[in-house]
Amino acid sequence: MPSVALQNLGCSKNVIDGENILGFFKSAGFQLTEDLEEAEIIVVNTCAFIREAQEEAIETILESASYKKEGRCRTLVVTGCFSQRYRDEVSVQFPEVNLWAGVDDWEEVLKTHFQAESSLTFVRELSEPLSTQYLKIAEGCSHRCSFCAIPSIRGPFKSRPVQSIIDEALWLYSKGTRELILVAQDTSFYGRDSGSNLALLLEDILNKTKFPWIRMMYLHPKFVDESLLKLISSESRICSYFDIPLQHISDPILKSMRRSPLSADIYRLIDRIRALVPGSALRSSFILGYPGETEKDYKCLRDFIEFARFDKLGVFPYSPEHGTDAFELKKRPRTSTAQKRCEELMLLQREISREIMEVKIGTEIEVIIDSVSEEPDYNFEGRSRSDAPEIDGKVFISSGSFETGSIIKAKVFGADDYDLFAEPSKYTDH
Ligand code: SF4
Repeated sequence: MPSVALQNLGCSKNVIDGENILGFFKSAGFQLTEDLEEAEIIVVNTCAFIREAQEEAIETILESASYKKEGRCRTLVVTGCFSQRYRDEVSVQFPEVNLWAGVDDWEEVLKTHFQAESSLTFVRELSEPLSTQYLKIAEGCSHRCSFCAIPSIRGPFKSRPVQSIIDEALWLYSKGTRELILVAQDTSFYGRDSGSNLALLLEDILNKTKFPWIRMMYLHPKFVDESLLKLISSESRICSYFDIPLQHISDPILKSMRRSPLSADIYRLIDRIRALVPGSALRSSFILGYPGETEKDYKCLRDFIEFARFDKLGVFPYSPEHGTDAFELKKRPRTSTAQKRCEELMLLQREISREIMEVKIGTEIEVIIDSVSEEPDYNFEGRSRSDAPEIDGKVFISSGSFETGSIIKAKVFGADDYDLFAEPSKYTDH
């Protein structure tokens, strides 16, 4: 059977789609390879969230197309959000692409094209490390934030049935996963289309699985409710980690973005989280340079970041997206202004983060071991409960020998802006 390689771009939700696509090929008998020169089929699983992602998608498609001349590639397949959104418009510009498939029809398209056996039993081809894996609990988004193209690409929010989530979670545990990360466009909206909610789903996962760490990403401030906060504060297996993209804090901007809650309630939410879940880690992200953002709006956001003292922060310059309502809006600050505001906020955050990190020196924390360290003075790299993979900091472990996925206790002896340095104190594998 032909060999298949995947080029995966974009967010953790796209990573899962890519793993499902590889799982499809594997279950249909194809060989998987990471070597693009050797692959007879190359799949580019694209993202289209902002202009940079679209440019990266185009570059990767062109780069992959070169293997039709330089390698063994015969079939170039493009899947994912870029394909879903633009395939009708751009397919003539990319004659090298043999097959375009969207986020909702890739399985059908691949089955038909490759005449692959219909397989209901295919499973994700998991990426490394197996010990930390994402689990997608819903598809799409039913919010209508003015700047975001996701609902038009991925359709309305649709919760996965509980049983299929539990089945996949049990399968992940059997593969060695110890940190389960629940993702969706809005994880906190889970079940609201089907008479359930995220807290109920979490209770089910807690009762039916043994993951020592469960983490959630992408919570919407409107749906971080009392029941969720109480559950997180009472269940040690759920990481007290709140990833809540807030986008802005100034009311005129939030209203124009069609976001709620507005600022007074967001301030209250931060207080409520810290009161009900002491010691929790807060992450948020903001857009700078949205149309109409004045110096005063920016100042509001700066003040808010000083107030909230997020443990983790991401800031992004606004990217106008075709087909979104915000695309038509005037009074957009210059790109250089948006960039400058982003840089200033990240400088501020660096100070805040360093102070938060330094307070941890001398404390004992739990660390999940991700890999052997590339730093010569350290044996392993891992993360605390306050760190999500890839986007947050690391904990460097100075001694000992552990399996990937082990959860150890470690005493922090050093810190820099975003990372911690620790010595193992006690082995607490699960
Ligand atoms: S909640 Fe997130 S995915 Fe949904 S429309 Fe808003 S920004 Fe886009």
